[in-house]
Amino acid sequence: MHLNQIRGMKTLVTGGCGFIGSHMVDRLLAEGHEVLVIDNLSSGTIRNLEHHKGNPKLQVHIHHIADHEKIADLFAGIDQVFHLAALADIVPSIERPMHYHHSNVNGTISVLEACRKHGVKRVIYSASSSCYGIPDQFPTPENAEIRCQYPYAVTKYLGEEYCLYWEQIYKMNITCMRFFNVYGPRARTSGTYGAVFGVFLAQKLNNKPYTVVGDGKQTRDFTFVTDIVDACVTAAKRNDISGQIFNVGSGNTYSINSLVQLLGGKITYIPKRPGEPDCTFADTRRISEILKWKPKVPFEEGVKIMLEHIDYWREAPLWDPASIAEATKDWFKYLGK
Ligand code: UDP
Repeated sequence: MHLNQIRGMKTLVTGGCGFIGSHMVDRLLAEGHEVLVIDNLSSGTIRNLEHHKGNPKLQVHIHHIADHEKIADLFAGIDQVFHLAALADIVPSIERPMHYHHSNVNGTISVLEACRKHGVKRVIYSASSSCYGIPDQFPTPENAEIRCQYPYAVTKYLGEEYCLYWEQIYKMNITCMRFFNVYGPRARTSGTYGAVFGVFLAQKLNNKPYTVVGDGKQTRDFTFVTDIVDACVTAAKRNDISGQIFNVGSGNTYSINSLVQLLGGKITYIPKRPGEPDCTFADTRRISEILKWKPKVPFEEGVKIMLEHIDYWREAPLWDPASIAEATKDWFKYLGK
């Protein structure tokens, strides 16, 4: 489809006030779309869309996506949906699995049913690479075995399964994108112990040592948020492709030690957590061959951008080995052998 044909489409972004969702909104507004956001502000914040205040092309509706009666009719007249609303993080998913199920699984069916009711033409689902758990193969292809290690991974995987069944049963056009370690400005700053960037940037701002897990040699496929958004937008433009799963990764994998080196500062070591892979690394051959998509932001560049936005993490919680040990108690209790 030519770019001009998709200009001015009516797009709905669930989780549009969140980290990835707000970058998606930036991109869609820049492309001239009308954007409708549904977000319950559980982890997202209006602050993430503050720079669009007064833009008549943006509407924000504060609802829980599982609240079907409230959200369903917002899908009337929508051309495409990016379903990015979800609860993230490992520890709270172990503590409150039903809560995660409600948002990530019931919420997804609710979105799918709203799309079906209103004949939405394209749905892009934000799936998670956590479904691979500790894989045998690196880089990991889409057909690797599913080995969810904790409730968050299970719920995101179930959401993906629902999407693929809805695609099959109701002949909807749906594509699932499995994201690998997304990072970038506006990565969540509040609440529970979570993704490494927020933890380390708060530590840097406070001149505290980085809490490096294990020996720091473990690697992650850190993928910059605008690349993730670009992959989803690329998939959405391909209405000849449906019912498929694509890994979205950076094309490389980087050690925690190399991240520390780029950030600069001292280290303190904390124990390796059970169920944690030593490596995440997307096999991106499918997405590059079928969607002709490639990531654009190299890791060094992405880390530089994070440092330029470090003020965003001023109010983020500051973690140290003792508070992390306390916060991850259930992780060791339930996932330890
Ligand atoms: N990590 C770390 N210190 C922390 C938090 C995370 O060294 O305080 C490491 C962790 O061992 C992993 C990487 O950072 O190798 C990414 O962790 P995150 O929780 O962001 O993502 P995931 O483990 O789910 O890939």
